[in-house]
Amino acid sequence: MSTTNVSTDRKASIKDRLTHSFPIVWDQLDEIETAAVFEMGERYKSFITLSKTERLCAAEIKRIAESQGYLNMDALPEGFSPVAGDKLYRVNRGKALVMIVVGKAPLEEGMHIVGSHIDAPRLDLKPVPLYEESDMAFLKTHYYGGVKKYQWTSIPLALHGTARKENGELVEIRIGEDANDPVLFITDLLPHLAKDQVTKPLGEAITGEGLNVLAGSVPLPKGDSESEGSVSEETLKDKVKLHLLKLLEARYGITERELVTAELEIVPAGAARDVGLDRGMISSYGHDDRVCAFASLEAILGIQNPEKTAIAYFTDKEEVGSMGNTGAESAFFETTVAELMLLQAGHYHDLMLRRALAKTEVLSADVSAGYDPNYSDAYDKRNSGMMGRGLEIMKYTGVRGKSGSSDANGEFFDKVARLFEANKVCWQVGELGKVDQGGGGTIAYILANKGAEVIDCGVPVLSMHAPYEVISKADLYMAAKGYMAFLNR
Ligand code: MN
Ligand code: MN
Repeated sequence: MSTTNVSTDRKASIKDRLTHSFPIVWDQLDEIETAAVFEMGERYKSFITLSKTERLCAAEIKRIAESQGYLNMDALPEGFSPVAGDKLYRVNRGKALVMIVVGKAPLEEGMHIVGSHIDAPRLDLKPVPLYEESDMAFLKTHYYGGVKKYQWTSIPLALHGTARKENGELVEIRIGEDANDPVLFITDLLPHLAKDQVTKPLGEAITGEGLNVLAGSVPLPKGDSESEGSVSEETLKDKVKLHLLKLLEARYGITERELVTAELEIVPAGAARDVGLDRGMISSYGHDDRVCAFASLEAILGIQNPEKTAIAYFTDKEEVGSMGNTGAESAFFETTVAELMLLQAGHYHDLMLRRALAKTEVLSADVSAGYDPNYSDAYDKRNSGMMGRGLEIMKYTGVRGKSGSSDANGEFFDKVARLFEANKVCWQVGELGKVDQGGGGTIAYILANKGAEVIDCGVPVLSMHAPYEVISKADLYMAAKGYMAFLNR
């Protein structure tokens, strides 16, 4: 034993005792948990590949909830009174939903909620989308959420959505996902002719009105126009557009009139894929925020008899400010809790709901900006979520001097962090980039304004809001584990 060694040991221990760092998740996993990380990654890829729109995502969550014995709150048997352990769900207009596991304590004692959003940035079709120009058919779009427009050119695109027919039937439209389906496409200018374009600022090189989707090029076959009589072949205009309408009629039974009132979304085509030779990451459209939605789905499916009522809330319209009757600002959530209180207590008054919300704890489950060394100038590395270091807690979001942020209370932040530690959940902290670089917000403020304790807590993402975003499977796993620990109390 040399004295040098003793002094080194002492230095190591004082460092361990006084300093803090966030470990790499992969280093903390045994063989069994490592396998569980990859298994969850497979389940997630299937989920998100199906969940290309908020409607499809809500439908998939509903399907899974029903398969696990969750009861539809809007179709409960007469005289139903919820008891501890009961599992319920309620869908809001096919675009948002809640899953509820009734707790042992009355609702008035508060709830544990994990709230995510299932809408994602995309290109919506305008009400009059279809036109013909230079012997090609195009679809006009209006982008939804924060997109870098140039990223949506030159990639295969799919069309998803619903149209309502004259008889009231809702027809589901889906083009571009199956291997033998055609895809859609937004063109970019060839570099040979882009002298003017490439000197423009990135945000102006491709304009909003320039995001026109190439959708066809073959004119209506001669026989098709003649069979309907009236107009002669020579005077018939826009034959490519007409051909496209004919194909839509054949496939979906709709005309240009139905396109006006339809809700149709252009999204990247194709499935989620593993990233990296070690398969540790996943690229997909819509990680923001379907990765946190999926983690909270896994979490609520994993709990049995919580003390407090546990709720996974999947909301819509976060990317455009949470407004409207399917967004988190709507009355849907509170009305659902009020209905549940009436079923549980046999009576209801406003104060019951207010008291419940004041005792409620919420994880605002939304993705964060993972630290990207390719763009290090935009981050404060010491205060950024690192890929593969687990569930990222964000005390606040906002812009400039935390403007618009719901700044979580330190006591609640610490309570959540210690809960994660007690349950071996790898967690880390981060801000959305460096100070004054930009910023953003989440649904955190909405339930915080009603009196609940709320903190943002989600999966770090690379290339956020790009057509294809990247997450770490280890972070997804820790998110599900953390959300489960939070709900299972
Ligand atoms: Mn988000
Ligand atoms: Mn977002």
